[in-house]
Amino acid sequence: MAARLVRRWGAVRAAAHSGPLVPCRRWSGASTDTVYDVVVSGGGLVGAAMACALGYDVHFHDKKILLLEAGPKKVLEKLSETYSNRVSSISPGSATLLSSFGAWDHICNMRYRAFRRMQVWDACSEALIMFDKDNLDDMGYIVENDVIMHALTKQLEAVSDRVTVLYRSKAIRYTWPCPFPMADSSPWVHITLGDGSTFQTKLLIGADGHNSGVRQAAGIQNVSWNYDQSAVVATLHLSEATENNVAWQRFLPSGPIALLPWSDADHTDFIDTAGAMLQYAVGLLKPTKVSARQLPPSVARVDAKSRVLFPLGLGHAAEYVRPRVALIGDAAHRVHPLAGQGVNMGFGDISSLAHHLSTAAFNGKDLGSMSHLTGYETDRQRHNTALLAAIDLLKRLYSTSATPLVLLRTWGLQATNAVSPLKEQIMAFASK
Ligand SMILES: Cc1cc2nc3c(=O)[nH]c(=O)nc-3n(C[C@H](O)[C@H](O)[C@H](O)COP(=O)(O)OP(=O)(O)OC[C@H]3O[C@@H](n4cnc5c(N)ncnc54)[C@H](O)[C@@H]3O)c2cc1C
Repeated sequence: MAARLVRRWGAVRAAAHSGPLVPCRRWSGASTDTVYDVVVSGGGLVGAAMACALGYDVHFHDKKILLLEAGPKKVLEKLSETYSNRVSSISPGSATLLSSFGAWDHICNMRYRAFRRMQVWDACSEALIMFDKDNLDDMGYIVENDVIMHALTKQLEAVSDRVTVLYRSKAIRYTWPCPFPMADSSPWVHITLGDGSTFQTKLLIGADGHNSGVRQAAGIQNVSWNYDQSAVVATLHLSEATENNVAWQRFLPSGPIALLPWSDADHTDFIDTAGAMLQYAVGLLKPTKVSARQLPPSVARVDAKSRVLFPLGLGHAAEYVRPRVALIGDAAHRVHPLAGQGVNMGFGDISSLAHHLSTAAFNGKDLGSMSHLTGYETDRQRHNTALLAAIDLLKRLYSTSATPLVLLRTWGLQATNAVSPLKEQIMAFASK
């Protein structure tokens, strides 16, 4: 462990000279800064949910938590009649996490759509796979990001005695304790905001997205590349009423196109790759030959104003933790949205980290200590690296129309579809 710490802090020191964030600084004299037990930097879906998970944890009742968010507070005064174009496919495991601190109830009282079937097929062959929940369990839920954020904000307001939330508050500098503290040095992480205010914390959680400043300041290596692709999301209007509980996805050589069920029989949301004409792409969702597969509903029109483009890429932090630092969500891993797993992986991080921190708090341990932070890292890297590799492989395998690879994926898809236990394993892994 000692060797690991020395190597790590060496890297932290090296990073100090490469940017505006200075990781290791001697702190002299008494400070009047508020010391928080935990500071979460970044209040997106993952950071806000992390603050909720800790705020509602019974072993954190005497702890002080600070959530910093660079953007404004997001509350939906009234649910708009038009559906937001930003939706997420939420796994049952993520719904369980959101339920554990009361946010799922708000979502249920607003709007969401459960789906029970998913059909995925190849544009270059007749191969298809159908995931089906025959026991009437939900396979997942389509929820507007704004609705999830509203639910989290409401739950944070209810624990404002434990969790302080500062909006429009961008952290611009993180200063780490020196590895071998002297009598005059502070043992905590120091955080400076854009307006000059400063705080200290025993544990800094980086939930500040895929360009994470916390990750950079901690000198944690990040493997990343951009896919030469962007996602386009838009709201579609269907031409006929449907059961509307099936998620459709077709792999085209230019990228996947998905049609997700929405709150009533008249609306859906979809993702495809940029550059393709929307209506043309939707036409491609129709299988070319008659087969046993189910036909997706036809699209009447695209809500033109709802179209937005997102550049896509992959990223993975070599380490999720350092002494007094943990990374969660896109700060730790960024995946292609073809499997709808990004925020679900982030929610999985929260379940694991909150569990390890809760145990540490119960046992009166230092929250920033590596002894339990490494437990979190081991749990999550095992799960996330497997998923990240599988998603990247799928993306590459389906980006080609080369015959040997089309044959390989056709057999793979057909074999997987034929072996029920394998399909069940995939469904169980994706529902975490
Ligand atoms: C088109 C598309 C579709 C997707 N669909 C799905 C899906 O169906 N299911 C799914 O699971 N995932 C999906 N994802 C992935 C998912 O959206 C992301 O994984 C998720 O939003 C990441 O959340 P986050 O909170 O980790 O990061 P972010 O959403 O990037 O949030 C980071 C937050 O940190 C704040 N911040 C940054 N720097 C600072 C700072 N210095 N100080 C203070 N605050 C700071 C930012 O303002 C921001 O609010 C999709 C992604 C895309 C692009």
